[in-house]
Amino acid sequence: MKTDVIIVGAGPTGLMAANQLARFGIDFIVIDLKSAPTAESRAIAVTARSLEIYQQMGLSDTVLEQGTKINSFNVYSEGERKAEVKIGEIGVGLSDFHFLLAFEQSKNEELLYQNLKSIHKNVLWNTEFLELKEWTDNIEILARYENKPTSISAKYLIACDGAKSPIRHQLNFKFEGGTYENKFFVADVIMNWNLEYDKLIVSPSDKNFCAFFPLKGNKRYRVLGTLPKGYDTKEDVSFQDIGKEILNATRLNIDFEKVHWFSVYKLHHRCVNSFNKGNVYLAGDSAHIHSPAGGQGMNTGLQDAYNIAWKMAFVLKGHAHKRLLDTYNEERLPFAQWLMKFTDRMFSIMSSDNWFIARFRKFFALRLVEIIMSKEAIKPIVFRTVSQITYTYRGKSLSAPYRSKQKLKFRTGDRLPYVSENYYTQFTEPVFHLIHITNQNDKVLENNGMLPFPIKMIKNSINDWERFGVKSELFILVRPDNYIALISDTLNEGILEAYFNACFTNNT
Ligand SMILES: Cc1cc2nc3c(=O)[nH]c(=O)nc-3n(C[C@H](O)[C@H](O)[C@H](O)COP(=O)(O)OP(=O)(O)OC[C@H]3O[C@@H](n4cnc5c(N)ncnc54)[C@H](O)[C@@H]3O)c2cc1C
Repeated sequence: MKTDVIIVGAGPTGLMAANQLARFGIDFIVIDLKSAPTAESRAIAVTARSLEIYQQMGLSDTVLEQGTKINSFNVYSEGERKAEVKIGEIGVGLSDFHFLLAFEQSKNEELLYQNLKSIHKNVLWNTEFLELKEWTDNIEILARYENKPTSISAKYLIACDGAKSPIRHQLNFKFEGGTYENKFFVADVIMNWNLEYDKLIVSPSDKNFCAFFPLKGNKRYRVLGTLPKGYDTKEDVSFQDIGKEILNATRLNIDFEKVHWFSVYKLHHRCVNSFNKGNVYLAGDSAHIHSPAGGQGMNTGLQDAYNIAWKMAFVLKGHAHKRLLDTYNEERLPFAQWLMKFTDRMFSIMSSDNWFIARFRKFFALRLVEIIMSKEAIKPIVFRTVSQITYTYRGKSLSAPYRSKQKLKFRTGDRLPYVSENYYTQFTEPVFHLIHITNQNDKVLENNGMLPFPIKMIKNSINDWERFGVKSELFILVRPDNYIALISDTLNEGILEAYFNACFTNNT
Protein backbone atom coordinates (compact mmCIF):
# COMPACT_ATOMS: atom_id res chain seq x y z
CA MET A 1 0.00 0.00 0.00
CA LYS A 2 1.13 3.53 -0.75
CA THR A 3 -0.09 6.91 0.45
CA ASP A 4 1.12 10.40 1.35
CA VAL A 5 0.73 10.22 5.13
CA ILE A 6 0.46 7.21 7.44
CA ILE A 7 -1.29 7.91 10.73
CA VAL A 8 -0.65 5.28 13.38
CA GLY A 9 -3.40 5.34 16.02
CA ALA A 10 -7.05 6.28 15.68
CA GLY A 11 -7.59 7.80 19.12
CA PRO A 12 -8.73 11.43 19.25
CA THR A 13 -5.35 12.71 18.02
CA GLY A 14 -5.09 10.35 15.03
CA LEU A 15 -8.71 10.84 14.02
CA MET A 16 -8.32 14.63 14.19
CA ALA A 17 -5.14 14.42 12.06
CA ALA A 18 -7.03 12.32 9.50
CA ASN A 19 -9.98 14.71 9.40
CA GLN A 20 -7.70 17.72 8.99
CA LEU A 21 -5.68 16.12 6.18
CA ALA A 22 -8.97 15.24 4.50
CA ARG A 23 -10.05 18.92 4.65
CA PHE A 24 -6.95 19.75 2.59
CA GLY A 25 -7.49 16.86 0.15
CA ILE A 26 -4.39 14.93 1.26
CA ASP A 27 -4.23 11.18 0.84
CA PHE A 28 -3.62 9.19 4.05
CA ILE A 29 -4.00 5.78 5.68
CA VAL A 30 -4.93 5.51 9.37
CA ILE A 31 -4.30 2.23 11.14
CA ASP A 32 -5.27 1.09 14.62
CA LEU A 33 -4.99 -2.23 16.38
CA LYS A 34 -8.44 -1.78 17.93
CA SER A 35 -11.52 -2.82 16.01
CA ALA A 36 -13.53 0.41 16.52
CA PRO A 37 -13.42 3.79 18.29
CA THR A 38 -12.97 3.45 22.04
CA ALA A 39 -16.09 2.76 24.07
CA GLU A 40 -14.46 3.99 27.30
CA SER A 41 -15.32 7.56 28.17
CA ARG A 42 -11.74 8.46 29.32
CA ALA A 43 -11.14 12.23 28.89
CA ILE A 44 -14.31 14.21 29.52
CA ALA A 45 -13.90 17.94 28.93
CA VAL A 46 -13.57 19.66 25.55
CA THR A 47 -12.03 23.12 25.75
CA ALA A 48 -13.26 26.21 23.91
CA ARG A 49 -10.27 26.05 21.56
CA SER A 50 -11.14 22.46 20.59
CA LEU A 51 -14.77 23.50 20.08
CA GLU A 52 -13.57 26.27 17.77
CA ILE A 53 -11.86 23.63 15.64
CA TYR A 54 -15.07 21.60 15.60
CA GLN A 55 -16.91 24.78 14.57
CA GLN A 56 -14.51 25.25 11.65
CA MET A 57 -15.23 21.64 10.63
CA GLY A 58 -19.01 22.16 10.90
CA LEU A 59 -19.28 19.77 13.87
CA SER A 60 -19.73 22.04 16.89
CA ASP A 61 -23.54 21.92 16.88
CA THR A 62 -23.41 18.13 17.28
CA VAL A 63 -20.94 18.45 20.14
CA LEU A 64 -23.17 20.97 21.92
CA GLU A 65 -26.20 18.76 21.40
CA GLN A 66 -24.48 15.66 22.80
CA GLY A 67 -22.43 17.36 25.52
CA THR A 68 -23.34 18.65 28.97
CA LYS A 69 -22.68 22.21 30.09
CA ILE A 70 -21.36 22.31 33.62
CA ASN A 71 -22.94 25.23 35.42
CA SER A 72 -21.32 25.29 38.79
CA PHE A 73 -18.31 24.04 40.63
CA ASN A 74 -19.00 22.97 44.22
CA VAL A 75 -16.79 21.97 47.10
CA TYR A 76 -18.14 19.55 49.67
CA SER A 77 -16.34 18.39 52.74
CA GLU A 78 -17.69 15.84 55.21
CA GLY A 79 -21.04 15.86 53.44
CA GLU A 80 -21.56 19.62 53.61
CA ARG A 81 -21.27 22.26 50.95
CA LYS A 82 -18.34 24.56 51.69
CA ALA A 83 -18.21 26.55 48.48
CA GLU A 84 -20.06 27.10 45.22
CA VAL A 85 -18.73 28.90 42.18
CA LYS A 86 -21.02 29.64 39.23
CA ILE A 87 -19.07 28.87 36.06
CA GLY A 88 -21.89 28.62 33.52
CA GLU A 89 -20.99 31.76 31.54
CA ILE A 90 -17.41 32.00 32.66
CA GLY A 91 -15.91 33.07 29.32
CA VAL A 92 -18.58 35.35 27.82
CA GLY A 93 -17.09 37.66 25.18
CA LEU A 94 -14.04 35.44 24.72
CA SER A 95 -15.36 32.63 22.54
CA ASP A 96 -18.62 31.32 21.11
CA PHE A 97 -17.98 28.43 23.54
CA HIS A 98 -17.75 30.39 26.79
CA PHE A 99 -18.56 27.48 29.14
CA LEU A 100 -17.19 24.20 30.42
CA LEU A 101 -18.51 21.31 28.34
CA ALA A 102 -18.35 17.62 29.17
CA PHE A 103 -18.17 15.59 25.95
CA GLU A 104 -16.40 12.33 26.54
CA GLN A 105 -13.44 11.01 24.56
CA SER A 106 -15.55 8.10 23.25
CA LYS A 107 -17.98 10.65 21.77
CA ASN A 108 -15.16 12.72 20.29
CA GLU A 109 -13.76 9.62 18.60
CA GLU A 110 -17.15 8.53 17.31
CA LEU A 111 -17.86 12.02 15.93
CA LEU A 112 -14.51 12.25 14.16
CA TYR A 113 -14.81 8.71 12.85
CA GLN A 114 -18.34 9.25 11.50
CA ASN A 115 -17.16 12.49 9.88
CA LEU A 116 -14.40 10.58 8.08
CA LYS A 117 -16.91 8.01 6.91
CA SER A 118 -19.23 10.74 5.63
CA ILE A 119 -16.48 11.77 3.21
CA HIS A 120 -15.85 8.14 2.25
CA LYS A 121 -12.64 7.72 4.24
CA ASN A 122 -12.07 4.94 6.73
CA VAL A 123 -9.69 3.58 9.35
CA LEU A 124 -7.82 0.31 8.86
CA TRP A 125 -8.96 -1.25 12.14
CA ASN A 126 -7.39 -4.45 13.51
CA THR A 127 -4.11 -3.36 11.98
CA GLU A 128 -1.10 -3.32 14.25
CA PHE A 129 1.99 -1.23 13.60
CA LEU A 130 5.01 -3.53 13.98
CA GLU A 131 8.11 -1.77 12.76
CA LEU A 132 9.48 1.26 10.93
CA LYS A 133 11.62 0.03 8.05
CA GLU A 134 12.50 3.46 6.70
CA TRP A 135 11.87 6.86 8.26
CA THR A 136 14.43 9.46 7.18
CA ASP A 137 13.48 10.64 3.67
CA ASN A 138 10.50 8.42 3.09
CA ILE A 139 8.46 6.14 5.31
CA GLU A 140 7.98 2.42 5.12
CA ILE A 141 6.26 0.53 7.91
CA LEU A 142 5.47 -3.08 8.55
CA ALA A 143 2.02 -3.73 9.97
CA ARG A 144 -0.05 -6.82 10.72
CA TYR A 145 -3.56 -7.08 9.39
CA GLU A 146 -5.55 -10.26 10.13
CA ASN A 147 -2.31 -12.07 10.95
CA LYS A 148 -0.78 -11.12 7.63
CA PRO A 149 2.24 -8.80 7.42
CA THR A 150 1.54 -5.72 5.29
CA SER A 151 3.93 -3.05 4.12
CA ILE A 152 2.76 0.58 3.80
CA SER A 153 4.89 3.35 2.34
CA ALA A 154 4.37 7.10 2.48
CA LYS A 155 6.17 10.43 2.57
CA TYR A 156 5.36 11.21 6.21
CA LEU A 157 4.15 9.46 9.34
CA ILE A 158 2.19 10.98 12.23
CA ALA A 159 2.57 8.83 15.34
CA CYS A 160 -0.66 9.13 17.33
CA ASP A 161 -0.10 5.78 19.00
CA GLY A 162 -0.66 6.90 22.58
CA ALA A 163 1.31 6.96 25.81
CA LYS A 164 3.12 3.65 25.22
CA SER A 165 3.95 4.64 21.62
CA PRO A 166 5.86 1.80 19.96
CA ILE A 167 7.11 4.34 17.41
CA ARG A 168 8.58 6.61 20.09
CA HIS A 169 10.29 3.53 21.56
CA GLN A 170 11.69 2.31 18.25
CA LEU A 171 13.16 5.72 17.45
CA ASN A 172 14.56 6.16 20.98
CA PHE A 173 12.95 9.52 21.65
CA LYS A 174 13.75 10.81 25.13
CA PHE A 175 10.59 10.80 27.28
CA GLU A 176 11.62 12.38 30.52
CA GLY A 177 9.54 13.01 33.61
CA GLY A 178 8.22 10.79 36.35
CA THR A 179 5.44 8.63 37.77
CA TYR A 180 3.17 9.72 40.60
CA GLU A 181 3.20 7.63 43.73
CA ASN A 182 -0.57 7.59 44.14
CA LYS A 183 -2.83 5.45 42.03
CA PHE A 184 -5.87 6.97 40.46
CA PHE A 185 -9.36 5.60 39.77
CA VAL A 186 -12.07 6.55 37.27
CA ALA A 187 -15.62 5.22 37.02
CA ASP A 188 -18.63 6.02 34.88
CA VAL A 189 -21.69 5.40 37.00
CA ILE A 190 -25.39 5.93 37.33
CA MET A 191 -26.00 7.18 40.83
CA ASN A 192 -28.69 8.60 43.03
CA TRP A 193 -28.09 11.35 45.53
CA ASN A 194 -29.97 14.22 47.08
CA LEU A 195 -27.88 16.86 45.26
CA GLU A 196 -28.62 18.42 41.88
CA TYR A 197 -27.39 16.54 38.83
CA ASP A 198 -25.78 19.33 36.74
CA LYS A 199 -22.99 20.29 39.13
CA LEU A 200 -19.33 19.48 39.22
CA ILE A 201 -18.57 18.45 42.79
CA VAL A 202 -15.17 18.17 44.35
CA SER A 203 -14.81 16.58 47.75
CA PRO A 204 -11.35 16.64 49.32
CA SER A 205 -10.71 14.77 52.55
CA ASP A 206 -7.75 13.67 54.66
CA LYS A 207 -7.88 10.25 53.03
CA ASN A 208 -8.15 11.06 49.36
CA PHE A 209 -9.49 13.41 46.73
CA CYS A 210 -12.70 12.71 44.88
CA ALA A 211 -14.57 14.56 42.10
CA PHE A 212 -17.95 14.03 40.41
CA PHE A 213 -18.51 15.27 36.83
CA PRO A 214 -22.03 15.28 35.37
CA LEU A 215 -22.32 13.46 32.02
CA LYS A 216 -25.13 13.50 29.46
CA GLY A 217 -27.92 11.11 30.42
CA ASN A 218 -30.10 10.51 33.42
CA LYS A 219 -28.03 10.54 36.66
CA ARG A 220 -24.82 9.72 34.77
CA TYR A 221 -21.65 10.78 36.52
CA ARG A 222 -17.91 10.37 36.11
CA VAL A 223 -16.34 9.75 39.49
CA LEU A 224 -12.60 10.07 39.80
CA GLY A 225 -10.02 10.42 42.50
CA THR A 226 -6.93 9.08 44.18
CA LEU A 227 -7.04 5.57 45.58
CA PRO A 228 -7.28 5.63 49.38
CA LYS A 229 -4.26 4.39 51.31
CA GLY A 230 -4.03 0.61 51.57
CA TYR A 231 -5.31 0.05 48.04
CA ASP A 232 -2.09 1.13 46.32
CA THR A 233 -0.53 -2.28 46.46
CA LYS A 234 -3.73 -4.30 46.22
CA GLU A 235 -4.39 -6.22 43.01
CA ASP A 236 -7.91 -6.45 41.56
CA VAL A 237 -9.43 -3.43 43.26
CA SER A 238 -13.16 -3.43 42.56
CA PHE A 239 -15.59 -0.53 42.43
CA GLN A 240 -17.45 -2.10 45.34
CA ASP A 241 -14.37 -1.51 47.54
CA ILE A 242 -13.83 1.98 46.25
CA GLY A 243 -17.52 2.88 46.41
CA LYS A 244 -17.50 2.23 50.16
CA GLU A 245 -14.36 4.34 50.59
CA ILE A 246 -15.95 7.18 48.59
CA LEU A 247 -18.95 7.20 50.90
CA ASN A 248 -16.70 7.14 53.98
CA ALA A 249 -14.40 9.88 52.78
CA THR A 250 -16.97 12.28 51.31
CA ARG A 251 -19.83 11.51 53.74
CA LEU A 252 -22.19 12.15 50.83
CA ASN A 253 -25.36 10.15 50.66
CA ILE A 254 -24.87 8.29 47.37
CA ASP A 255 -26.42 5.15 45.99
CA PHE A 256 -24.31 3.79 43.10
CA GLU A 257 -26.94 2.15 40.91
CA LYS A 258 -24.79 0.95 38.02
CA VAL A 259 -21.10 1.01 37.08
CA HIS A 260 -20.48 1.23 33.33
CA TRP A 261 -16.71 1.49 33.46
CA PHE A 262 -14.12 1.33 36.22
CA SER A 263 -10.38 1.59 35.88
CA VAL A 264 -7.40 2.04 38.18
CA TYR A 265 -4.15 3.31 36.81
CA LYS A 266 -0.84 4.97 37.56
CA LEU A 267 -0.31 8.49 36.32
CA HIS A 268 2.83 9.77 34.67
CA HIS A 269 4.14 13.16 33.66
CA ARG A 270 6.55 12.88 30.77
CA CYS A 271 7.42 14.79 27.62
CA VAL A 272 9.72 14.29 24.64
CA ASN A 273 12.42 16.87 23.90
CA SER A 274 11.59 16.97 20.20
CA PHE A 275 8.37 16.18 18.33
CA ASN A 276 10.06 14.67 15.30
CA LYS A 277 12.83 12.52 13.89
CA GLY A 278 13.27 12.33 10.13
CA ASN A 279 9.85 12.20 8.54
CA VAL A 280 8.15 10.89 11.70
CA TYR A 281 6.11 13.39 13.74
CA LEU A 282 4.73 12.55 17.19
CA ALA A 283 1.39 13.98 18.34
CA GLY A 284 -0.82 13.67 21.44
CA ASP A 285 -0.02 11.21 24.21
CA SER A 286 2.85 9.69 22.23
CA ALA A 287 4.70 12.99 22.85
CA HIS A 288 3.41 14.16 26.23
CA ILE A 289 1.46 12.67 29.11
CA HIS A 290 0.31 14.40 32.25
CA SER A 291 -2.29 14.18 34.99
CA PRO A 292 -5.92 14.84 34.01
CA ALA A 293 -5.95 17.92 36.29
CA GLY A 294 -7.40 20.69 34.17
CA GLY A 295 -8.76 18.31 31.52
CA GLN A 296 -6.03 19.17 29.01
CA GLY A 297 -4.77 15.77 27.74
CA MET A 298 -7.10 14.97 24.89
CA ASN A 299 -7.47 18.64 23.93
CA THR A 300 -3.73 19.08 23.55
CA GLY A 301 -3.61 16.05 21.24
CA LEU A 302 -6.39 17.56 19.11
CA GLN A 303 -4.42 20.84 18.87
CA ASP A 304 -1.18 19.02 17.96
CA ALA A 305 -2.95 17.22 15.13
CA TYR A 306 -4.54 20.46 13.94
CA ASN A 307 -1.15 22.19 13.87
CA ILE A 308 0.84 19.51 12.02
CA ALA A 309 -1.88 18.64 9.50
CA TRP A 310 -2.19 21.98 7.70
CA LYS A 311 1.59 22.34 7.53
CA MET A 312 2.01 18.83 6.13
CA ALA A 313 -0.75 19.54 3.62
CA PHE A 314 0.96 22.73 2.41
CA VAL A 315 4.29 20.89 2.00
CA LEU A 316 2.70 17.94 0.18
CA LYS A 317 0.83 20.26 -2.17
CA GLY A 318 4.10 21.98 -3.05
CA HIS A 319 2.97 25.27 -1.49
CA ALA A 320 5.72 25.27 1.12
CA HIS A 321 9.24 24.06 1.70
CA LYS A 322 9.62 21.09 4.05
CA ARG A 323 11.16 23.50 6.56
CA LEU A 324 7.61 24.57 7.44
CA LEU A 325 7.30 21.29 9.36
CA ASP A 326 10.05 22.41 11.77
CA THR A 327 7.64 25.04 13.07
CA TYR A 328 5.42 22.24 14.43
CA ASN A 329 8.07 21.39 16.99
CA GLU A 330 8.87 25.06 17.57
CA GLU A 331 5.22 25.86 18.34
CA ARG A 332 3.92 22.78 20.14
CA LEU A 333 6.89 21.62 22.26
CA PRO A 334 6.93 24.67 24.60
CA PHE A 335 3.20 24.24 25.18
CA ALA A 336 3.56 20.55 26.05
CA GLN A 337 6.43 21.37 28.43
CA TRP A 338 4.49 24.18 30.12
CA LEU A 339 1.41 21.97 30.42
CA MET A 340 3.36 19.20 32.08
CA LYS A 341 4.58 21.60 34.79
CA PHE A 342 1.16 23.28 35.20
CA THR A 343 -0.81 20.03 35.58
CA ASP A 344 1.90 18.61 37.85
CA ARG A 345 1.56 21.55 40.27
CA MET A 346 -2.25 21.31 40.28
CA PHE A 347 -2.22 17.56 40.70
CA SER A 348 0.29 17.64 43.54
CA ILE A 349 -1.98 19.93 45.56
CA MET A 350 -5.04 17.81 44.76
CA SER A 351 -3.52 14.43 45.57
CA SER A 352 -0.68 14.88 48.06
CA ASP A 353 -0.71 12.69 51.20
CA ASN A 354 1.43 15.21 53.02
CA TRP A 355 -0.38 16.09 56.28
CA PHE A 356 0.06 19.84 55.85
CA ILE A 357 -1.07 19.88 52.19
CA ALA A 358 -4.02 17.57 52.95
CA ARG A 359 -5.19 19.95 55.73
CA PHE A 360 -4.60 22.99 53.54
CA ARG A 361 -6.60 21.34 50.74
CA LYS A 362 -9.46 20.39 53.03
CA PHE A 363 -9.83 23.64 54.94
CA PHE A 364 -8.38 26.46 52.87
CA ALA A 365 -7.45 25.75 49.26
CA LEU A 366 -10.89 25.24 47.85
CA ARG A 367 -12.39 28.04 49.96
CA LEU A 368 -9.66 30.20 48.46
CA VAL A 369 -10.77 29.08 44.99
CA GLU A 370 -14.29 30.25 45.83
CA ILE A 371 -13.10 33.66 47.01
CA ILE A 372 -10.88 34.14 43.98
CA MET A 373 -13.47 32.87 41.53
CA SER A 374 -16.21 35.07 42.98
CA LYS A 375 -14.31 38.08 41.63
CA GLU A 376 -15.73 38.77 38.18
CA ALA A 377 -12.34 39.98 36.92
CA ILE A 378 -10.71 36.63 37.72
CA LYS A 379 -13.13 34.38 35.79
CA PRO A 380 -11.90 35.38 32.30
CA ILE A 381 -8.29 34.77 33.39
CA VAL A 382 -9.15 31.25 34.55
CA PHE A 383 -11.21 30.62 31.41
CA ARG A 384 -8.41 31.83 29.12
CA THR A 385 -5.94 29.45 30.77
CA VAL A 386 -7.96 26.25 30.87
CA SER A 387 -9.73 26.78 27.54
CA GLN A 388 -6.39 26.99 25.67
CA ILE A 389 -7.47 30.18 23.85
CA THR A 390 -4.62 32.30 25.18
CA TYR A 391 -1.78 30.10 24.08
CA THR A 392 0.22 32.11 21.57
CA TYR A 393 2.94 31.50 19.00
CA ARG A 394 4.40 35.00 19.49
CA GLY A 395 8.03 35.31 18.49
CA LYS A 396 8.02 32.05 16.51
CA SER A 397 9.20 31.77 12.90
CA LEU A 398 5.72 31.94 11.36
CA SER A 399 4.77 35.08 13.31
CA ALA A 400 6.01 38.04 11.23
CA PRO A 401 7.48 41.12 12.94
CA TYR A 402 4.87 43.67 14.02
CA ARG A 403 4.26 46.25 11.29
CA SER A 404 1.59 48.57 12.64
CA LYS A 405 1.86 52.08 14.10
CA GLN A 406 -1.44 51.49 15.91
CA LYS A 407 -1.56 50.41 19.56
CA LEU A 408 -3.23 47.07 18.98
CA LYS A 409 -4.21 44.63 21.70
CA PHE A 410 -3.06 41.62 19.68
CA ARG A 411 0.16 40.50 18.05
CA THR A 412 1.30 38.07 15.39
CA GLY A 413 1.25 34.53 16.77
CA ASP A 414 -1.96 35.12 18.75
CA ARG A 415 -5.21 33.29 18.12
CA LEU A 416 -7.41 35.40 15.86
CA PRO A 417 -9.26 37.84 18.18
CA TYR A 418 -12.82 36.90 18.98
CA VAL A 419 -14.48 39.89 17.31
CA SER A 420 -18.14 38.98 17.76
CA GLU A 421 -20.53 36.05 18.03
CA ASN A 422 -20.12 33.59 15.14
CA TYR A 423 -17.16 35.60 13.81
CA TYR A 424 -15.08 32.47 13.28
CA THR A 425 -17.70 30.93 10.99
CA GLN A 426 -16.24 33.09 8.18
CA PHE A 427 -12.97 31.17 8.49
CA THR A 428 -14.04 27.65 7.66
CA GLU A 429 -12.11 27.11 4.42
CA PRO A 430 -8.72 25.36 4.66
CA VAL A 431 -6.78 28.39 3.39
CA PHE A 432 -4.99 31.53 4.58
CA HIS A 433 -7.37 34.47 5.06
CA LEU A 434 -6.53 38.12 4.64
CA ILE A 435 -8.70 40.42 6.74
CA HIS A 436 -8.89 43.93 5.39
CA ILE A 437 -10.17 46.31 8.08
CA THR A 438 -11.39 49.51 6.46
CA ASN A 439 -14.34 51.90 6.46
CA GLN A 440 -14.05 52.58 2.74
CA ASN A 441 -16.90 50.86 0.96
CA ASP A 442 -15.53 51.09 -2.54
CA LYS A 443 -12.13 49.61 -1.77
CA VAL A 444 -11.94 46.04 -3.02
CA LEU A 445 -8.72 44.18 -2.46
CA GLU A 446 -7.61 41.86 -5.23
CA ASN A 447 -5.38 38.84 -4.98
CA ASN A 448 -3.02 39.84 -7.81
CA GLY A 449 -1.84 36.32 -8.54
CA MET A 450 1.62 36.94 -7.07
CA LEU A 451 0.98 34.63 -4.14
CA PRO A 452 1.88 30.94 -4.21
CA PHE A 453 -1.67 29.78 -3.38
CA PRO A 454 -5.19 31.20 -3.10
CA ILE A 455 -5.96 33.42 -0.14
CA LYS A 456 -9.49 34.27 0.90
CA MET A 457 -10.22 37.96 1.45
CA ILE A 458 -12.49 39.12 4.26
CA LYS A 459 -13.54 42.73 4.70
CA ASN A 460 -14.42 44.12 8.17
CA SER A 461 -15.24 47.62 9.38
CA ILE A 462 -12.99 49.53 11.77
CA ASN A 463 -15.89 49.78 14.23
CA ASP A 464 -15.93 45.98 14.56
CA TRP A 465 -12.30 46.00 15.66
CA GLU A 466 -12.23 49.17 17.78
CA ARG A 467 -12.14 47.32 21.10
CA PHE A 468 -8.90 45.68 19.97
CA GLY A 469 -7.27 49.07 19.40
CA VAL A 470 -7.83 49.35 15.63
CA LYS A 471 -8.31 53.00 14.64
CA SER A 472 -7.46 53.02 10.94
CA GLU A 473 -6.94 50.70 7.98
CA LEU A 474 -5.29 47.40 8.86
CA PHE A 475 -4.44 44.08 7.21
CA ILE A 476 -4.29 40.83 9.14
CA LEU A 477 -3.07 37.61 7.54
CA VAL A 478 -4.59 34.58 9.28
CA ARG A 479 -3.21 31.04 9.04
CA PRO A 480 -5.51 28.10 8.24
CA ASP A 481 -5.54 27.27 11.98
CA ASN A 482 -6.77 30.80 12.83
CA TYR A 483 -3.53 32.14 14.29
CA ILE A 484 -2.24 35.51 13.14
CA ALA A 485 0.66 35.34 10.70
CA LEU A 486 1.12 39.01 9.86
CA ILE A 487 -0.26 42.42 10.85
CA SER A 488 0.36 45.50 8.71
CA ASP A 489 -1.07 49.01 8.19
CA THR A 490 -0.40 48.72 4.44
CA LEU A 491 0.12 46.05 1.85
CA ASN A 492 2.88 47.91 -0.01
CA GLU A 493 6.19 46.54 -1.23
CA GLY A 494 5.04 42.97 -1.65
CA ILE A 495 4.72 42.37 2.10
CA LEU A 496 2.70 39.20 1.63
CA GLU A 497 5.03 37.84 -1.03
CA ALA A 498 8.00 38.54 1.26
CA TYR A 499 6.29 36.72 4.16
CA PHE A 500 5.52 33.62 2.12
CA ASN A 501 8.92 33.70 0.51
CA ALA A 502 10.67 33.76 3.88
CA CYS A 503 8.48 31.26 5.70
CA PHE A 504 7.32 28.98 2.94
CA THR A 505 9.66 28.90 -0.03
CA ASN A 506 13.11 29.95 1.13
CA ASN A 507 15.43 26.95 1.09
CA THR A 508 18.17 28.41 3.23
C1 LIG B 1 -8.38 5.50 32.18
C2 LIG B 1 -8.06 6.84 31.56
C3 LIG B 1 -8.74 7.98 31.98
C4 LIG B 1 -8.43 9.23 31.43
N1 LIG B 1 -9.09 10.34 31.84
C5 LIG B 1 -8.75 11.55 31.34
C6 LIG B 1 -9.42 12.74 31.73
O1 LIG B 1 -10.33 12.71 32.56
N2 LIG B 1 -9.04 13.93 31.16
C7 LIG B 1 -8.02 14.00 30.22
O2 LIG B 1 -7.70 15.07 29.70
N3 LIG B 1 -7.39 12.88 29.83
C8 LIG B 1 -7.73 11.68 30.36
N4 LIG B 1 -7.08 10.58 29.94
C9 LIG B 1 -6.03 10.76 28.93
C10 LIG B 1 -6.64 10.83 27.55
O3 LIG B 1 -7.39 9.67 27.37
C11 LIG B 1 -5.51 10.95 26.53
O4 LIG B 1 -4.84 12.18 26.73
C12 LIG B 1 -6.00 10.85 25.09
O5 LIG B 1 -6.58 9.61 24.86
C13 LIG B 1 -4.83 11.01 24.12
O6 LIG B 1 -5.26 10.70 22.83
P1 LIG B 1 -4.28 10.06 21.77
O7 LIG B 1 -5.10 9.90 20.53
O8 LIG B 1 -3.04 10.86 21.69
O9 LIG B 1 -3.87 8.65 22.35
P2 LIG B 1 -4.84 7.33 22.63
O10 LIG B 1 -6.22 7.76 22.91
O11 LIG B 1 -4.11 6.54 23.61
O12 LIG B 1 -4.84 6.64 21.21
C14 LIG B 1 -3.75 5.87 20.75
C15 LIG B 1 -4.25 4.88 19.73
O13 LIG B 1 -3.13 4.22 19.16
C16 LIG B 1 -3.48 2.85 19.00
N5 LIG B 1 -2.24 2.05 18.99
C17 LIG B 1 -1.34 1.90 19.99
N6 LIG B 1 -0.36 1.07 19.59
C18 LIG B 1 -0.64 0.71 18.31
C19 LIG B 1 0.01 -0.14 17.36
N7 LIG B 1 1.14 -0.80 17.64
N8 LIG B 1 -0.57 -0.29 16.15
C20 LIG B 1 -1.73 0.35 15.85
N9 LIG B 1 -2.39 1.16 16.70
C21 LIG B 1 -1.84 1.34 17.92
C22 LIG B 1 -4.36 2.53 20.21
O14 LIG B 1 -5.18 1.40 19.96
C23 LIG B 1 -5.16 3.82 20.33
O15 LIG B 1 -6.38 3.77 19.64
C24 LIG B 1 -7.40 9.33 30.46
C25 LIG B 1 -6.74 8.17 30.04
C26 LIG B 1 -7.06 6.94 30.58
C27 LIG B 1 -6.32 5.71 30.12
